[in-house]
This record gives sequence, structure tokens and C-alpha cells, in this order.
Amino acid sequence: MKAVLLDRDGVINSLVYYQEAGVINAPLKLSQFELLPRVPEAIRLLNDLGLGVAVVSNQPGIAKGDFALETLWQFNDAMVTAIRSAGGHLDGIYYCLHHPEAKLPEWRRCCRCRKPEIGLLEQAAADLRVSLEECYLIGDGIPDLLAGVRAGCRTIFVGRWKCEICQFTEAPNVRPALVAKDLWEAVKMIQCEVMSRSAAVPTARSDSTSY
Ligand SMILES: [Mg+2]
Ligand SMILES: [Zn+2]
Repeated sequence: MKAVLLDRDGVINSLVYYQEAGVINAPLKLSQFELLPRVPEAIRLLNDLGLGVAVVSNQPGIAKGDFALETLWQFNDAMVTAIRSAGGHLDGIYYCLHHPEAKLPEWRRCCRCRKPEIGLLEQAAADLRVSLEECYLIGDGIPDLLAGVRAGCRTIFVGRWKCEICQFTEAPNVRPALVAKDLWEAVKMIQCEVMSRSAAVPTARSDSTSY
């Protein structure tokens, strides 16, 4: 495996509970944008393993009139700065800003980039010069899993807040390869897989010489 594609909300930053509406959703303002525990360290570890790392995120909030484009860039800066302060980096950041029922006509579109479509994943993989079969896709929602399976990625489902989703993840077009409680745990799983694969060949050889 060569790269890891990350969903943003619920994987990198925490979701927000909106009491009045009774829903859990993406942050709308900078004061609500908080990275989840050990996220910068997890991304640093992926960097150290030699894997490419890109964010692939649906962000329909601008299209819906929930926040301004400028706010998205504030979130983006906060995310990049926190990752950098742990010595990590992202190799790419991709947002789909469209929504089929957008309030703002310039973003109203049935696009190919909004997950569960795979346009965003394709763009990230192309820029990283890897195939989608060489990518992990980590997400906390059904659209992430659908896109990951469709694209041929190895998918990892993370999250506790949305655990009611687990009952829907059994179908073969959604079922994740791995389930982790957070990004750090997911990255430790990736580390195990990457390291066990690179160790497999020499072990087999030393056995065959013992005849
Ligand atoms: Mg998410
Ligand atoms: Zn789009």
C-alpha cells in the first residue's frame, strides 16, 4: 500500500452536537473546529511509514449557506498548522463544495466528486501517482465506505459517535476491511499491515534454506 485517503469531519476534527436541532454535524465556525486526540501524531506516523496522505472531504456547508468559503480556509489553516506542529504534513487536500440542492446556484450540481462518487479519490490518487487499489480510505460515514469500496481502496471505518451506522455496514458494497475507534488506532493497524508485509518475504526464504 502506498497512500492513505482521509475523510475530514469525524476523522480529523471532532463533530459538533447542535443541541437545538438535536443533531451531530460538521463545525460551522472556527471556535467549533477541534482536532481529535492524537490526529497530528497519527498523520506524522503515516508520513514516517513512507505513505502519501491526502484529505478527501465533502464540504457542502458553503453551498447550503451555512458558512462562508473563508471559514473553510480558516478550518483548513487550523488543521494544517496542528499537523505541522507535530512534524507531520499532508500531501494533498481535496474538497467537494457541491450539493445537488444547494441554496447558492454556483454550487448546485450533481457532481462526480461528492462521495459516494469517487471523483475526489481519483484526483487525490492521480496527484499522489498511486492507484486507488494501493490506497487506504479512512472514514466515519456510509458515503466514505461506499466510495472506498467502489474505488477498490482498502477501507477503514472509524468513530464512536456514529456507531449506529455499524448496522448498515454489513452489505458487501459498504463493508469496511477494518474498524478502528479513532484515526490513531487505524494508523496503528496500517503500520502493522505495512510492516508485516515487508517482513514476509525474508522469513519465507530463510525457511526454505533449512531443508
Ligand atoms: Mg465524516
Ligand atoms: Zn463535487
